[in-house]
Amino acid sequence: MISATDWAALAERLQQFVQAAPADRPATVNLRPMREIAARLGLTGNTVEPLGSEGMQGFLEGYLHHATRLSSPGFFAHQTAQPNAGSTLAALIDGTVSNPMAIFEMGPAAATIEYWLIGSLLRKLGWAAPPWPEERVAEDMGRYGAGVLVHGGSLATLTALVAARTRVQPDVWAVGNDPRLCLICAEGAHYAVQRAAGIMGLGRRQIRHAATDARGALTAEGVAAALAEAEAAGERVIAVIATAGSTAVGAFDPLQPIAEVCRSRGVWLHVDAAHGGGFLFSAVLRQRLAGIELADSVVWDAHKMSRTGPLCTAVLYRDERACNQAFEQEASYLFHDKGLPGFDFLHRTVECTKAALGLRWYLALADQGEAGIARHVEACVELTRQAHALIEAQPDFECALRPEANILCFRHQAGEVDELQIRDALIREGRFHLSTTLFAGRRWLRIVVMSPASRLQTIEALLDVLRRMGAPAD
Ligand SMILES: *Cc1c(COP(=O)(O)O)cnc(C)c1O
Repeated sequence: MISATDWAALAERLQQFVQAAPADRPATVNLRPMREIAARLGLTGNTVEPLGSEGMQGFLEGYLHHATRLSSPGFFAHQTAQPNAGSTLAALIDGTVSNPMAIFEMGPAAATIEYWLIGSLLRKLGWAAPPWPEERVAEDMGRYGAGVLVHGGSLATLTALVAARTRVQPDVWAVGNDPRLCLICAEGAHYAVQRAAGIMGLGRRQIRHAATDARGALTAEGVAAALAEAEAAGERVIAVIATAGSTAVGAFDPLQPIAEVCRSRGVWLHVDAAHGGGFLFSAVLRQRLAGIELADSVVWDAHKMSRTGPLCTAVLYRDERACNQAFEQEASYLFHDKGLPGFDFLHRTVECTKAALGLRWYLALADQGEAGIARHVEACVELTRQAHALIEAQPDFECALRPEANILCFRHQAGEVDELQIRDALIREGRFHLSTTLFAGRRWLRIVVMSPASRLQTIEALLDVLRRMGAPAD
């Protein structure tokens, strides 16, 4: 059993790990064969015995030895935030109290926070937030937006597209898919879209790829043409999926003109703002999402740009009826008819039991304030802009695009070694962790600026290492 004094020591050790690179391992990533990691963690034999407090400390040391350090300046690999202290506290509270709150009576405080937070996010999108459930009257149904928090953008995408399908084909839960259903998106849409389509029983042929610009972003003309083709082929479009912050390069689709095209045809517009949603906290950067208020549904990850730990995602709808009817035709859940106060989120999600995600998002915001989160997002974007200017000024490097967000794709031209090998070599050294991506037919090194500790000097040091790696061996 772990005692309260052990708790304090373990928490202090975690803080140290976040704040400074441990001396006994590479600064960012420490990839070793599983057998070696298992030995360090003491995963031997077939039964688990109590560790005791010393054993627990030893286990934590092993875990941290092989943990990827998101707080490291050299962490550029994935779109996951270093959680702030508020989010960490929320995870501790939820992990201790354990109030899975999709049913109100399972976590009245947690459910109230989620209801309130959803309202606040709806207002950020320019949509109407509903009053408290106890203050609702039958006549106001449909005047407000609605939403729910779920575990991640992939599940959120599935949830929103299920709601869109129910609107296009209201009897789908009774009779199954109409074979004429289709989705329209860019070829570079996140694979969450393909997965959702597969889970919903749509074949790959039922996804139409609209033409894109040089950034891989949708255009209003491309969407209009794809809609016209779908109509000519007798298809029923579930939704057009636009992206606000693409995964490969961080490009923003022009939401306003795309929304106007969708509205004129009565087609559902879904905006995947999993990455770019956090930009809405910034008065400057929210311009990138202009027109998002014209969408029908939006997905917004907090574990990317809003400093929560994984996973915490909002699915938001302009019209609450679409949200409440997503998983069935009847909106019997619109009002809490139990005679007890509260509100159940159960009918809005794939999940039945879900964590107190509103607590996580709320405490991440409450830790730094919304202005603090905005400053973090702005700093990540600004450093990416500076990195682009720096790299473009080097004769032996090139960038794929001018960055619109905190994602930058570039390559070392002189190198004999390909980008995948470079990435592997970097991971073996463990100081820098980045990814690669295919864009415009070529493979690029890809950095995502996420860590509050990254600086321009970090990028300069990275370029030096890349030059050394690209140089012919003597
Ligand atoms: C990350 C991401 C997703 C998937 O979200 P997860 O939270 O990783 O499941 C979907 N779309 C875009 C644009 C993303 O960046």
